[in-house]
Amino acid sequence: EVFDVTGTVVLVTGAGSGLGRSIAETLAGCGATVIAADRDEARLKQLHDVDALPLDVSDAAAVEDAVSDVVRRHGRLDTVFANAGIARGAGLTQPAGSVDAFELDDWHALLEVNLHGVAHTVRAAARPMKRQRSGSIVVTASTAGLRADPFVSYSYVVAKAGVVNLVRQAALDLARWRIRVNAIAPGPFKTNIGGGEPNAEAEARWGASVALGRMGDPRELRGLALLFASGASSFVTGSVYAVDGGALLQ
Ligand code: NAD
Repeated sequence: EVFDVTGTVVLVTGAGSGLGRSIAETLAGCGATVIAADRDEARLKQLHDVDALPLDVSDAAAVEDAVSDVVRRHGRLDTVFANAGIARGAGLTQPAGSVDAFELDDWHALLEVNLHGVAHTVRAAARPMKRQRSGSIVVTASTAGLRADPFVSYSYVVAKAGVVNLVRQAALDLARWRIRVNAIAPGPFKTNIGGGEPNAEAEARWGASVALGRMGDPRELRGLALLFASGASSFVTGSVYAVDGGALLQ
């Protein structure tokens, strides 16, 4: 019972692939009403037992409308996973460029999704949650937001560090409405973020960067999805929860 999510209304962004898909499918399988949002409609069509919602989180007005629509149709919004994110230039086999060399177009495009997109989502979700005086917001950060990483771009490490402190600020702010806000910080997981094709070289490199010696499988997020969407985490807020196979230890 402690991990019960039956009947809760859950919005997951970036639900069409990777970590978001794992979160959405896990919670749908456990009886939650899941609204799966992604800007890639073809990916959404592959999901089962969810309410598919085409959405680009970098569009603040669209995020507001989407949240209003969820609340209109389902009457409430219990849990939001602000998970959508990109990693441009990632196959992540080459060291990222130096600070005097990064492309400004890439910088802006990445912050638009990984920082602003998360802010739009948290902002929109807080409103109905304040009215109902409850809620759980979970942001997908990264170990790359907690330390320097030479294989990850400046834009990515900056965006992920930004969302970590967004989570802390929002957790303090929203606590009086009994809204909890937490971050998960994944280490390297096998998803489509590196551009799709499995890349043995990248896999070996990322696996070696982890104490457990391998990349994570998105299914290994199932427990955390249930933890944060259920009462099991009722006394957890403002936390940054690493799920990284010990990557931060090395
Ligand atoms: P993924 O590419 O497999 O899935 C991300 C999904 O987000 C895709 O379906 C994509 O279409 C969607 N998306 C991208 N931009 C969007 C936008 N503007 N609006 C709506 N949807 C959008 O990648 P993933 O690895 O599952 O990434 C999920 C989150 O996890 C990201 O925030 C990423 O930064 C983070 N993360 C991933 C890893 C990893 O190793 N895979 C590690 C740490 C953090």
